[in-house]
Amino acid sequence: MKALVWHGKEDIRCDTVTDPEIEDPRDAIIKVTSCAICGSDLHLFHNFIPAMMPGDIMGHEMMGEVVEVGSGVNGKLKKGDRIVVSRAIGAPKKLRKQVAAT
Ligand SMILES: [Zn+2]
Repeated sequence: MKALVWHGKEDIRCDTVTDPEIEDPRDAIIKVTSCAICGSDLHLFHNFIPAMMPGDIMGHEMMGEVVEVGSGVNGKLKKGDRIVVSRAIGAPKKLRKQVAAT
Protein backbone atom coordinates (compact mmCIF):
# COMPACT_ATOMS: atom_id res chain seq x y z
CA MET A 1 0.00 0.00 0.00
CA LYS A 2 1.00 3.65 -0.31
CA ALA A 3 1.71 5.77 2.78
CA LEU A 4 3.27 9.10 3.69
CA VAL A 5 6.54 8.18 5.36
CA TRP A 6 8.70 10.43 7.53
CA HIS A 7 12.35 10.13 6.46
CA GLY A 8 13.75 13.05 8.43
CA LYS A 9 13.34 16.76 9.03
CA GLU A 10 11.24 18.25 6.20
CA ASP A 11 11.52 15.00 4.23
CA ILE A 12 8.20 13.19 3.84
CA ARG A 13 7.62 10.89 0.86
CA CYS A 14 4.78 8.80 -0.52
CA ASP A 15 6.28 5.32 -0.33
CA THR A 16 5.11 1.77 -0.86
CA VAL A 17 5.01 0.04 2.54
CA THR A 18 3.94 -3.36 3.80
CA ASP A 19 0.24 -3.86 4.38
CA PRO A 20 -0.84 -3.61 8.03
CA GLU A 21 -1.65 -6.77 9.99
CA ILE A 22 -3.65 -7.44 13.12
CA GLU A 23 -1.02 -7.75 15.87
CA ASP A 24 -3.16 -7.30 18.98
CA PRO A 25 -6.71 -8.68 19.50
CA ARG A 26 -7.95 -5.08 19.92
CA ASP A 27 -6.49 -3.87 16.59
CA ALA A 28 -8.54 -2.73 13.62
CA ILE A 29 -7.31 -2.08 10.10
CA ILE A 30 -8.88 0.91 8.36
CA LYS A 31 -8.88 1.67 4.62
CA VAL A 32 -8.43 5.44 4.55
CA THR A 33 -10.82 7.26 2.22
CA SER A 34 -10.12 10.87 3.30
CA CYS A 35 -7.58 12.49 5.58
CA ALA A 36 -6.60 15.90 6.92
CA ILE A 37 -3.40 17.67 7.78
CA CYS A 38 -3.20 18.75 11.41
CA GLY A 39 -1.05 21.37 13.06
CA SER A 40 0.83 18.62 14.84
CA ASP A 41 1.80 17.21 11.42
CA LEU A 42 3.69 20.45 10.85
CA HIS A 43 5.58 19.90 14.13
CA LEU A 44 6.43 16.39 12.95
CA PHE A 45 7.47 17.70 9.53
CA HIS A 46 9.85 20.21 11.13
CA ASN A 47 11.06 17.58 13.64
CA PHE A 48 9.93 19.55 16.69
CA ILE A 49 8.72 16.23 18.10
CA PRO A 50 11.89 14.16 18.59
CA ALA A 51 10.03 10.85 18.91
CA MET A 52 9.80 10.51 15.12
CA MET A 53 11.99 7.82 13.61
CA PRO A 54 12.78 7.38 9.91
CA GLY A 55 10.16 5.06 8.45
CA ASP A 56 7.29 6.25 10.69
CA ILE A 57 4.02 6.61 8.79
CA MET A 58 2.26 9.98 8.99
CA GLY A 59 -1.42 10.67 9.55
CA HIS A 60 -3.74 10.54 12.51
CA GLU A 61 -6.94 12.33 11.45
CA MET A 62 -8.97 10.54 8.83
CA MET A 63 -12.13 8.84 7.66
CA GLY A 64 -12.31 5.33 6.33
CA GLU A 65 -13.78 1.87 6.28
CA VAL A 66 -13.03 -1.00 8.63
CA VAL A 67 -11.53 -3.85 6.62
CA GLU A 68 -10.46 -6.15 9.47
CA VAL A 69 -10.78 -6.35 13.25
CA GLY A 70 -9.00 -8.40 15.87
CA SER A 71 -10.71 -11.10 17.93
CA GLY A 72 -10.88 -8.80 20.98
CA VAL A 73 -12.92 -6.03 19.35
CA ASN A 74 -16.15 -7.73 20.55
CA GLY A 75 -18.64 -6.49 17.96
CA LYS A 76 -18.44 -2.77 18.65
CA LEU A 77 -16.60 -2.34 15.37
CA LYS A 78 -17.04 -4.64 12.40
CA LYS A 79 -15.87 -5.03 8.83
CA GLY A 80 -17.61 -2.51 6.57
CA ASP A 81 -18.22 0.13 9.28
CA ARG A 82 -17.43 3.70 8.25
CA ILE A 83 -15.38 5.49 10.90
CA VAL A 84 -13.86 8.86 11.76
CA VAL A 85 -10.62 9.27 13.67
CA SER A 86 -10.49 12.88 14.83
CA ARG A 87 -8.06 14.76 17.00
CA ALA A 88 -10.61 14.61 19.79
CA ILE A 89 -10.36 10.81 19.84
CA GLY A 90 -6.80 9.71 20.38
CA ALA A 91 -5.72 6.86 18.15
CA PRO A 92 -3.47 4.19 19.62
CA LYS A 93 0.12 4.52 18.51
CA LYS A 94 -0.11 1.27 16.57
CA LEU A 95 -3.11 2.55 14.59
CA ARG A 96 -1.32 5.79 13.83
CA LYS A 97 1.62 3.84 12.47
CA GLN A 98 -0.58 1.67 10.29
CA VAL A 99 -2.83 4.36 8.87
CA ALA A 100 -2.06 5.04 5.26
CA ALA A 101 -3.72 6.48 2.23
CA THR A 102 -4.79 3.89 -0.32
ZN1 LIG B 1 -4.01 16.16 14.92
